[in-house]
Amino acid sequence: MGVARLSLRLLALLAAMLLLPMTASAQSSIRDAEIEGILREYFDPLLTAAGLQPRDVDIILINDPSLNAFVAGGQKIHIHTGLILATDSPEQLKGVIAHEIGHIVNAHLAMSEEAMKDAQGISMISIGLGVLAIAAGAPDAGVALMSNSGYFAALNFFTYGRVAESQADQTGVTLMEQTGQSAEGMVYFFEKFRYEELMSSRRQDPYFRMHPISTQRIAAIRARVAQAETTAQPQSERAIQQLAIMKAKLIGFLQSPMQVARKYPHTDLSENALYARSISEYRAVDIGAALRDIDALLERQPDNPYYWELKGQILFENGRIAESIEPHRKSVQLAPNQPLLKVNLARSLIESRDMEKVREAEGVLMDALAQERDNAFAWNQLAACYGKLNRTPEAALATAEERYYIGDIRRAHVFAQRAAQGLDRTSSNWQRADDIIRVTDPRLPGNRQPS
Ligand SMILES: [Zn+2]
Repeated sequence: MGVARLSLRLLALLAAMLLLPMTASAQSSIRDAEIEGILREYFDPLLTAAGLQPRDVDIILINDPSLNAFVAGGQKIHIHTGLILATDSPEQLKGVIAHEIGHIVNAHLAMSEEAMKDAQGISMISIGLGVLAIAAGAPDAGVALMSNSGYFAALNFFTYGRVAESQADQTGVTLMEQTGQSAEGMVYFFEKFRYEELMSSRRQDPYFRMHPISTQRIAAIRARVAQAETTAQPQSERAIQQLAIMKAKLIGFLQSPMQVARKYPHTDLSENALYARSISEYRAVDIGAALRDIDALLERQPDNPYYWELKGQILFENGRIAESIEPHRKSVQLAPNQPLLKVNLARSLIESRDMEKVREAEGVLMDALAQERDNAFAWNQLAACYGKLNRTPEAALATAEERYYIGDIRRAHVFAQRAAQGLDRTSSNWQRADDIIRVTDPRLPGNRQPS
């Protein structure tokens, strides 16, 4: 139990994840089914109002305490965890993202062509929030994962022009209005940070380098908002609680126990406080306390899939693999459209050493991958599953997929070749291996990689 066991499991996982060359520009985005679900609920109506297909727009959460949100790679909206923690109301967060959607629909290029080329070479590692948080406590490996200095470095020097900013503002306000929401939070947010920026405490935040705030800009939004306040509905109780949940979860996973205790003192028995504390205790390997708090939450909300997910995670990371299966199974039953929960369940099944369960994991992973084909970690687990079942060529193919989606073209090529040698040439698996071999051919321009 405890730290030694935790570290071994973690290091094995990280080793699997990090076989790619770890350059200064490697960066982690973080995945969390609950937070992603909330962000989609927040932003999808805005995207639809903008005439975009929500499923065509990726929302990527970046583990970074600084304040930023930006669009890159066409229709990918990147949100720093620091932005979520800095907003006081759903309206503020939605307003900032409505502005970003404004940059998309007005086709403002966030990067020069050259910067774009650099950015495409950057490896984006997606890793579960829970795994990342534990990595933070592990020496070396954690540091590499947490480092974010080089991430989209080109963007740090990018500034939208005055015209683009004002267009994005206008579109943002329109989108808030069209969805029956007030854009006042947007004004409030900009004003608050305009002040803090002047007071220099926020000068380091990349958001204000990229989207310069001016007095005229704020005045223009304010004038617009003042005209059209009448139809806006206040944010629902649900939306307000969702912001509180995201904050509790991010604080629990990413901040120190002292910070958690300051924000959620022991006298606070609200669900958000219990949630943040349970996560924090789990990270501190105080398993008794973590389980006590998550069980208290489950008593209040037995149908919350994310409480079951956390319970499964606490048990799994502490080597109680067999016990972790049922909580994870429960989370999948309660939220069948969340592939990340399926990957958790599969991980427990694979580690159970019960061959019946390892075989079950294959189907669970196939299901997850049918919903989210580019999930590199799901492919990583599928390779582990086939490895345990001695299905070596399929394991090699799953590893080729994993490497391909991480952007490790060189190893994707090698593993696809290995897979093709062992697979039946008439099978669809062989066909897929052959496809990967072709697209990762090192002679193709753009496929040359260092190391
Ligand atoms: Zn902007």
